[in-house]
Amino acid sequence: MKAVLFEKFQEVATVADPTPEPHGVVLKVEATGVCRSDWHGWMGHDSDIDLPHIPGHELAGVVEAVGKDVKNWKVGDRVTVPFICGCGSCSECHAGHQQVCLHQEQPGFTHWGSFAEYVPIHQADLNVVALPATMEFATAASLGCRFATSYRAVIDQGKVSAGQWVVVHGCGGVGLSAVMIASAAGANVIGVDLDPGKLALAKDLGAVAAIDGKGDVVEAIKEITKGGAHVSLDALGHPATMTNSILCLRPRGKHIQVGLMLGDHATPVVPMAKIVGQEIELLGSHGMQAHRYDAMLDMVKNGKLDPARLVGDKISLEQAPEALMNMDKFQSIGATVITSF
Ligand SMILES: [Zn+2]
Ligand SMILES: [Zn+2]
Repeated sequence: MKAVLFEKFQEVATVADPTPEPHGVVLKVEATGVCRSDWHGWMGHDSDIDLPHIPGHELAGVVEAVGKDVKNWKVGDRVTVPFICGCGSCSECHAGHQQVCLHQEQPGFTHWGSFAEYVPIHQADLNVVALPATMEFATAASLGCRFATSYRAVIDQGKVSAGQWVVVHGCGGVGLSAVMIASAAGANVIGVDLDPGKLALAKDLGAVAAIDGKGDVVEAIKEITKGGAHVSLDALGHPATMTNSILCLRPRGKHIQVGLMLGDHATPVVPMAKIVGQEIELLGSHGMQAHRYDAMLDMVKNGKLDPARLVGDKISLEQAPEALMNMDKFQSIGATVITSF
């Protein structure tokens, strides 16, 4: 098959087609998103990755081959998969928390991913998700990482309810998804970003207010919300947005850390006095397990959520290495998706 192989840069290589494990499937990839975490992998920031390597973890496709122990899937099924796949046998998987599986697999990180014509998926009965018949593959590919992550952060971790004030710090892919999801849940959403284009899109997607991140963000939020937000998300993953997110909360508010804190940012200074004195909750959020997709897909089917609005350029596999290398130079607003192979 053709694949983007991290060995010779800027080139699409040909490697052997994958075969399914007994509990796994092989998918024919129909769409796969280009994500910042692929760029981190490309740069060598991810210790899980051994070379040669194929990136890609935001994928949708059709079942091409099925392992002998798989019960739920057959050749031709249209499917997607969360970017964190559970092992199926650890205590977290048994409790239904595959997103924090102790032996998790991530296509494009722990094994070869979907910047290729075919991708193997482990433990298919646990990790594969059926797509609604009407959903385009490019839209489905955008669900697996940014959108599902935001869904879990807002709905399952944040337990956001109608009438609450919710602040989203950082309106990139994850942040804009969170704006759309929290608005659909009935919250009054405030978007914060440095980029006026992203703030305009946040308002388009349902935010009732947009704040320029260069100003006094905490003061502005306290003013608008008359005392602070009920729930606030750091969708970027930076000490500055994390601190603003905690400080903009009202007493007993909830901070959700969604953006990854890596490298120099791994151990930020946290305003613990406020957390104790005002009984603030701090929660992490990490992907979303396959069995929670139904709730999200129902909201998409019923028109409450429209992830297709967050899809940007559609490119070919041959264009993928260049798109990946330029990720740190241009911040495109919609997600770039590879749709021809
Ligand atoms: Zn991603
Ligand atoms: Zn597990």
